[in-house]
Amino acid sequence: MKFETKAIHLGHEVDPLTGAIAAPLHLSTTFEREADGSYPRGHIYSRLSNPNRDALERSLAGLENGEGAIAFASGLAAITNVFQALLPGDHVIASQDLYHGTTHILQDIFEPWGLEVSFIDVTDTSQLEGAIQPNTKMIFLETPSNPLLKITDIAAVADIAHKAGALCVCDNTWATPLLQRPLDLGADIVVHSTTKYFGGHSDVLGGATISKVKDAFFDRMRMLQQIGGAVPAPFDCWLVLRGIQTLSCRMKNQSESAFAIAKFLQKHPHVEKVYYPGLVDHPGHDIVLKQMSQFGGMLSFQIKGNKEEALAFTGRLKIIRRATSLGGVESLIEHRASIEGPNSKTPDNLLRFSVGLENLDDLLTDLDTALTHK
Ligand SMILES: *Cc1c(COP(=O)(O)O)cnc(C)c1O
Repeated sequence: MKFETKAIHLGHEVDPLTGAIAAPLHLSTTFEREADGSYPRGHIYSRLSNPNRDALERSLAGLENGEGAIAFASGLAAITNVFQALLPGDHVIASQDLYHGTTHILQDIFEPWGLEVSFIDVTDTSQLEGAIQPNTKMIFLETPSNPLLKITDIAAVADIAHKAGALCVCDNTWATPLLQRPLDLGADIVVHSTTKYFGGHSDVLGGATISKVKDAFFDRMRMLQQIGGAVPAPFDCWLVLRGIQTLSCRMKNQSESAFAIAKFLQKHPHVEKVYYPGLVDHPGHDIVLKQMSQFGGMLSFQIKGNKEEALAFTGRLKIIRRATSLGGVESLIEHRASIEGPNSKTPDNLLRFSVGLENLDDLLTDLDTALTHK
């Protein structure tokens, strides 16, 4: 089955009891034993497993070409789970340019807990090789990265990780498996904030880890999910699974619009710099051509001016909403430095733009009007 067909049908089997095409919602927290005490239908208690969560996990594993998926209540709960599965004294190499929440949990939860963490530029393979230690157990990367859209060669990093006996973990939230499949490129685990493109409508929080093989590390992550309990509610699973059905058409459209907007902004007299991997002068352009089928719906740009002028520009927008998050049907723009806090290294005049499904000309007019202050 091709991606688009899997997205419609995996985890969306017809309900054998009623013939329902859209999956029923299973709110029950507990499931009946047989007279002999067994659980032939597989479910015991909803923290351990639930039919709606099972369906979502089957869909996610199928879309990423992994053997198993584990769904969580948020993207950061999924990322927390991956690091929790390591042991105190293990060493993690993490990309310098990461979703700020990931950096935050590494520094404020896992370093005090006993993980050793090196933040480096993983796009530089010689720097990466130099950072490997005897206790390196994981290399964690994000590509395209947040918010600078840096591109990392997944196959090259996976190769270095495997030579060191470490796992390669890739946050694939921005690309989605429609555009990029890290497990096929050699990564061992993919993590997602399903809050973003999978859900797609800014109305559900969720996360997932997807493993290439169901090995001992997968079993440990599953145990931590079931015992740790950061599980998504049945309706949240249902909403993400519904979002997945339209992922392909949303993502194709959003990628096309983002590409057009990036080219428009690059020529605009009030714009200093555009970060979008589809542009030929982007430093990761050649790698992105190898590992992504389109360039995605996210871009960042620096306006000509300071922080106040960047914020004033967003204040003049009429269609594009000022809000954090991304991957929804509506276009969202955000001043990253102010949400990332005082330690942020993001330029003060940088805005991150999640391109939605509005008409492209309307978006271009909105940007142009606000930029030129017409
Ligand atoms: C949003 C996001 C996360 C965190 O996910 P939540 O669902 O907000 O917990 C992690 N990684 C990336 C790349 C994100 O965009």
